[in-house]
Amino acid sequence: MAFAELAVNTPVLRPGSFSYSIPAGLEIKPGQAVWAPFGPKIVQGIVLEVTEEPAFGQTREICGVISDTPLLSFHQLKLAKWISQTYLSSIYEAVALMLPPSFERQSLAYISLESSPPAAAKNPSETLSPNMQKILDRLKAKDITPQNELEKIFGKKTAQSAILKLINQGLVKRTYRISPVRAKTKFEKHFRLSVQALAFIKNQTLPKLSPRQTQVFNYLRENPGGISKSGLNLLVKNNSAVLKALEQKGLVSTEERQVFRQPVDYSLIPPLPHLELSPPQKKCLEFITRSLNTPPEDDQNPRTFLLHGITGSGKTEIYLQALAESLRLGKKAIVLVPEISLTPQTIARFAGRFPGQIAVLHSRLSPGEQFDEWQRIKNGQADIVIGPRSALFAPLDKPGIIIIDEEQEWTYKQQDPQPRYHTRTVANKMAEEYGAVLVLGSATPDIDSYFKAQKGIYQLLELPERLTPYRGASLPKTELVDMRTELSEGNRSIFSRNLQASIEKVLANHEQAILFINRRGGASFIQCRDCGYVAMCKSCDAPLTYHPDQENLVCHQCGRHYPNPLTCPKCGSRRIKYLGMGTQKLEEETRLAFPQAKLLRWDSDVIKSKNTHQQIMDKFSCHQADILIGTQMVAKGLDLPDVTLVGVINADISLNLPDFRAGERTFQLLAQVAGRAGRGISGGKVVIQTYSPENYAIRSAVCHDYPGFYAKEIVYRQALNNPPFRKLACLVFSHLNHDFCQQQAKLMAKTLREKAEAVGLGNLEILGPAPAFIQRLRGRYRYQLILRSPNPAEFLREINPGQGWSIDIDPYGLC
Ligand code: ADP
Ligand code: ZN
Ligand code: ZN
Repeated sequence: MAFAELAVNTPVLRPGSFSYSIPAGLEIKPGQAVWAPFGPKIVQGIVLEVTEEPAFGQTREICGVISDTPLLSFHQLKLAKWISQTYLSSIYEAVALMLPPSFERQSLAYISLESSPPAAAKNPSETLSPNMQKILDRLKAKDITPQNELEKIFGKKTAQSAILKLINQGLVKRTYRISPVRAKTKFEKHFRLSVQALAFIKNQTLPKLSPRQTQVFNYLRENPGGISKSGLNLLVKNNSAVLKALEQKGLVSTEERQVFRQPVDYSLIPPLPHLELSPPQKKCLEFITRSLNTPPEDDQNPRTFLLHGITGSGKTEIYLQALAESLRLGKKAIVLVPEISLTPQTIARFAGRFPGQIAVLHSRLSPGEQFDEWQRIKNGQADIVIGPRSALFAPLDKPGIIIIDEEQEWTYKQQDPQPRYHTRTVANKMAEEYGAVLVLGSATPDIDSYFKAQKGIYQLLELPERLTPYRGASLPKTELVDMRTELSEGNRSIFSRNLQASIEKVLANHEQAILFINRRGGASFIQCRDCGYVAMCKSCDAPLTYHPDQENLVCHQCGRHYPNPLTCPKCGSRRIKYLGMGTQKLEEETRLAFPQAKLLRWDSDVIKSKNTHQQIMDKFSCHQADILIGTQMVAKGLDLPDVTLVGVINADISLNLPDFRAGERTFQLLAQVAGRAGRGISGGKVVIQTYSPENYAIRSAVCHDYPGFYAKEIVYRQALNNPPFRKLACLVFSHLNHDFCQQQAKLMAKTLREKAEAVGLGNLEILGPAPAFIQRLRGRYRYQLILRSPNPAEFLREINPGQGWSIDIDPYGLC
């Protein structure tokens, strides 16, 4: 008897696989999808392994196959295992990254009347609650009903308890059915001349045809490849009767053919030639080409490249030519871009260079389109896959090159659900497994990537300058405004005199301005308006967060409380301000200050429908507004020709988030704003307002000095044992009850500390418990623990914290 280890599609409390027996006569291969019983339900399972002995004693039988051939390759199964171990997710959560779109189907519960209720229940009305009676009446009228329909009518809790009582009394029963398929292969009729028709033509024995029949017949005679139903509809209207007649006369043969729903109309994209590379570009490409042409086992050099160059320095052109080289060698490729850069223009640039060879995968495609693009890739019909982080898991057979553009972007880290993987980390692992080359591109590399490049773990490639049409175009003039001086000289507005005057000038010249507030989350920290002092935790060096409900300051790293100071501890001033300016508030203030200006706001509150990013950009680029207000997203709009001013309202907000990456984040945002000179802004200027003009991140960003920033930042990282010197893991416990939540977090901290001591892990720090940055989320309280050590995942794997805990290895941002 044979057994299979399955990853099952249902919430499970342990990370591993489940053992099943394979019924006689059923052939099962690793990577195949099957149906398997789980409790009272039937669930989907992916075969990880076929074995002779089950890993666990008692096994149930697999019910049947979902896919005849494996959906996942050997390499993908191996990668999934690695992901689940590295990020402490269930094996199914890791496998799910690689499954076809719309694959997942749940078991849905259905309720129906028990056909022969027990005698005792024959006359039950006195024991039935009104709700139970109502449910019974419905079932009598409608027979079988989905449980979720009853839940909608009666409320979830009420319905569930009433149903449970009815089941216990033997009056109704619950069965499970699989939810319907959301997307499937699309077929279309395709018509050709039949073999018999060719014989008729040869022997000149064609039957008589009507004029419309003749029209179709002649078309098919001239086009031996035939025509699809939709193609024919364009040619001859209402053609059903015509076709039927031709079929009956034996002249036309019909078949069902798969059609691929394509998200992009490639026929509209003009082909683009390669550009002649500049000498620095040529040098970078040579290094990549050399690696592509060297078998990994013979390669003495790192096969991950960090391509560092400001926007417009020609990185994309290098990607394109590296892709061409990979395809020339017969190896496919993956190109990852941040979701927001996945615009029609980006796709056109790749599709124009590689006509017919591109597949695009992203969440804004319809389920049908996603499904078909996935199938095309799986069938080997696409050479290059472009998409956001999830495209890394496209079913390409062993890519030869993986490119990650703007590798520093935080969208490359998956936050929820598990596995909370980082694309860069997984791509490195994949490249190693497949012998592929990995290219990371950025204007402001992630500290971790630059550190690895400095250490020689990556090869560093640099593009020093901006290219045509920008070559020689200067970066915009950047002015730093000290807001403390504004205040001391009597200006209490959020606009400095410089920014106020600059906006007025823009409006007078009918140009455009962008106002930018680099704020995410709801942090509110406190700052002295006179000296710029920010309240910090003594043991964590992290800014304290103000909690209005408790009237005190809390460190979100270690949980320590501090009294809320009434005067500044540094200069004694009473002017202490709670900062928490958002885009809406900025819009209000701008409207008051410039009532004549037309405003447009761009933030995640406004982005509701799927195309709004593009719509807002379009609206702004055709000058339907004078001032665009937004968060970091607006940095993309800086290439517009009419934009001559960019104002950063308060550069300190992201600087003072209680997160060790705050400096890096601030540098990235400001450098992007200050360095993204398009045609327009090069004539204009950037105004950055700050209370801490001497801060290293702000100073380096203004001078476009990445190495200078890195040199300072890496020292801080080392001093505080932060990444890349140590790794972090964030554990969050959430619960409706505050005290219980806090207790559990304390308990876990104790368990972890004892365990660490027992195994002698001296270099493992456990910080907390502290309230999570978002202390209450969807009604649930959240407490967090932070682990800092060379390998916290390894330590946590042994512990398996269990229900209520979520684990984030290498967290980005605040939990
Ligand atoms: P990045 O990806 O670094 O922002 P791009 O590759 O998009 O840079 O290049 C910026 C601009 O310069 C684009 O308009 C591109 O067409 C052009 N460009 C890039 N390389 C060359 C080249 N070798 N010769 C001429 N123009 C180039
Ligand atoms: Zn002060
Ligand atoms: Zn602290």
